[in-house]
Amino acid sequence: MTNSRASVPTPVNEPVRSYAPGSPERASLQRHLAQMKAQDPVQIPAIIGGEAVMTDTQQDVVAPHEHAHVLGHLHNVGAPEAKQAVDAALAAREAWGRMAWQDRAAIFLKAADLLAGPWRDTLNASTMLGQSKNVYQAEIDSACELIDFLRFNVKFMEFIYEQQPISSPGVWNRTQYRPLEGFVFAVTPFNFTAIQANLPIAPAMMGNTVVFKPSHTATYSAHYTMQLLAEAGLPPGVINMVPGRGAPIGDAIMVHPELAGLHFTGSTRTFKHLWKMAGQHIDTYKGYPRLVGETGGKDFVVAHPSADAQAVATALVRGAFEYQGQKCSAASRAYLPASLWPTIQTAMKEQLDEIKMGTVEDFSNFINAVISERAFNDITSYIDAAKAADGVTLIHGGGYDDSEGYFIEPTVFQVEDPMYRTMCEEIFGPVLTVYVYEDKRFDEILKVVDATSPYALTGSIFAQDRRIIAQATEALEQSAGNFYINDKPTGAVVGQQPFGGARASGTNDKAGAYLNLLRWTSPRSIKETFAPPHHFGYPFLG
Ligand code: NAD
Repeated sequence: MTNSRASVPTPVNEPVRSYAPGSPERASLQRHLAQMKAQDPVQIPAIIGGEAVMTDTQQDVVAPHEHAHVLGHLHNVGAPEAKQAVDAALAAREAWGRMAWQDRAAIFLKAADLLAGPWRDTLNASTMLGQSKNVYQAEIDSACELIDFLRFNVKFMEFIYEQQPISSPGVWNRTQYRPLEGFVFAVTPFNFTAIQANLPIAPAMMGNTVVFKPSHTATYSAHYTMQLLAEAGLPPGVINMVPGRGAPIGDAIMVHPELAGLHFTGSTRTFKHLWKMAGQHIDTYKGYPRLVGETGGKDFVVAHPSADAQAVATALVRGAFEYQGQKCSAASRAYLPASLWPTIQTAMKEQLDEIKMGTVEDFSNFINAVISERAFNDITSYIDAAKAADGVTLIHGGGYDDSEGYFIEPTVFQVEDPMYRTMCEEIFGPVLTVYVYEDKRFDEILKVVDATSPYALTGSIFAQDRRIIAQATEALEQSAGNFYINDKPTGAVVGQQPFGGARASGTNDKAGAYLNLLRWTSPRSIKETFAPPHHFGYPFLG
């Protein structure tokens, strides 16, 4: 019995540690990296109903910057184990959904504190080794963003539960926030450990049980995330992890009659495929599954002639190349005025010349490897085609080498045609394309930015002239779900810039905000009348 109205601690964003030379956090993380690198490959089984489930078909999980180094063996799940995971989720549903929300909250707040403390190095090191992130990129993702998701979402859950209707005399109205009827399928991308964890956790927090399919290229950090959640006290069966290839698992789960929701982040192509499956099976489902997806982007930076050229150059270097451009929000097309281009180009070149590329264990490397051989081949095919195309000039980089790791240099192209394919298509790698416009064509360029790509995820305007900032903010209203003024278009912080885009970029349900959690609850309105009438008659009948 709780007999109290507990209130959740007010969250603040987790401070980002510096890992500067000589700092204790640097020494501790380096020790963890060395230990995890030296250990035998770990077994990465499915976790179903709290039990490790091994399968016959295993696959090596390798470090992308050193692909001969095997970190683990993941156990590929097929249709039978996927169905078993759904059964486990459904079996756990009632007890989890009926647990007092304060107790659910405590489990996730405990996970946040464990991650901020004793688990921080493990999750950061697994993200660095398995997804090839430098220490800063890992820290802002697998430590800070995930801690923020855990703490802020608990607060948002409390906020939602507090929303209650008015009551009239003699009546008490209430809203009950039920979990969805069925299970939620969480399908996650490789590029953020925080997103990978948040997609199953957000519905689970609202009382749902989940089947969680990580990307096969990020299962190393997913494996440790599941261990963290178990240590925080998450009961067996609430989140069931099914590692492996997408299609066999998706095919088995998307057709299940009790599918109540899909929480997806990944490519537009995969989300559309899953949406079509949901449409085809609409008569099979018990209800209408909630379809929530955050997908691709073709994120822009527009500079006006009044912009600070040095700030534009820095935003492009960080925005386009951090984590090798493998952020859905990465700047990948820039529209720069002819008057500023020489200064921006020189400033970018000076900074790019300072950048080192290599393994994650050497902390002086800003750039590491792209995630996989497939990504390497996709990205380099764009680079090769652009090098050979008319009207395209290579400004920087363009080199690549996959002999030891999947390394691609930060690459900048300048194009004469603002509709050239690298201005329109998501490449998801360290490739930035620049279009230089005549200063007097600024108004026209805003229209080009809006109409160039099917996506609408993130974008930036750089200008010192306030009227121009207002003009661009209005002209680009539908072009990005996250819009930045004089800042790079990446690095959204939970609770500060709720994240998500529209058009082909997703359903814009804003991860890191109460809006996302609303998708994982099915409210029930309860009306209670204290003294009900005893006869049908109304006064007008007299
Ligand atoms: P992806 O679409 O290749 O894979 C995403 C997930 O879907 C993986 O777990 C994959 O195994 C799974 N999958 C693939 N086919 C499936 C099927 N038939 N059934 C079930 N699951 C299936 O994407 P990715 O390469 O992992 O991630 C990169 C993409 O994610 C980029 O397009 C990027 O823009 C996008 N992304 C978007 C956001 C956002 O918030 N908008 C955030 C991160 C990444």
